[in-house]
Amino acid sequence: MTIQQNTDVQRRSDINFDTVLHTLRALVPDRHVSHLESLHIAEQQADLLRDILHITTDTFPVDLIEKIPFVSITPVHELPVSGIAFWGDHTWKIHIRAEEPLSRRRFNTLHEFKHVIDHPNLGRLYDGRPHVAAGERELVADHFAACVLMPADQLRRASLETVDRCTLAGRFHVDHTQLGHRLDDLDLTPIAPEQLSIYVTERRIT
Ligand SMILES: [Zn+2]
Repeated sequence: MTIQQNTDVQRRSDINFDTVLHTLRALVPDRHVSHLESLHIAEQQADLLRDILHITTDTFPVDLIEKIPFVSITPVHELPVSGIAFWGDHTWKIHIRAEEPLSRRRFNTLHEFKHVIDHPNLGRLYDGRPHVAAGERELVADHFAACVLMPADQLRRASLETVDRCTLAGRFHVDHTQLGHRLDDLDLTPIAPEQLSIYVTERRIT
């Protein structure tokens, strides 16, 4: 075990997993919020989750979610959806389709975990009309997962170091689609060197 790993283990022994859900839910104000606010709250919750769990590495260890009391994560073969969260036997059960690649399973677990966080606050976070709320919830859960896996500051720093998407996807352990969406969201889509030279040439011509 390296010194860094040792330090990580020590810091994780200080984590109070009992209060994680309560702390994340407490970020929701006591009023109805707009869709934009819901997205913003999701990002705040993602950053806070990393803080609570003392995660500073680019790759987020998704298995830590299972240490939260009353949350269990189970890969299920031939699940007809990519993931589902439901309450049963006094536990939030998150089932994830086992056939998905690991990067998808990591994303889907955090997506479902956001549904668990939201459960007591659905009326405040989402439009009351069921056909609107369902789409909103999915978008916001995707945003939460993307923010946990690719925090803005860390992805911004990493994208200054390399424009290579394989390297970036590897650092954050996400797939290329997830990375592309997050880079677009943050307006960080790297300019490839060959595009950069075209841009410079165009600037010279004009
Ligand atoms: Zn969902």
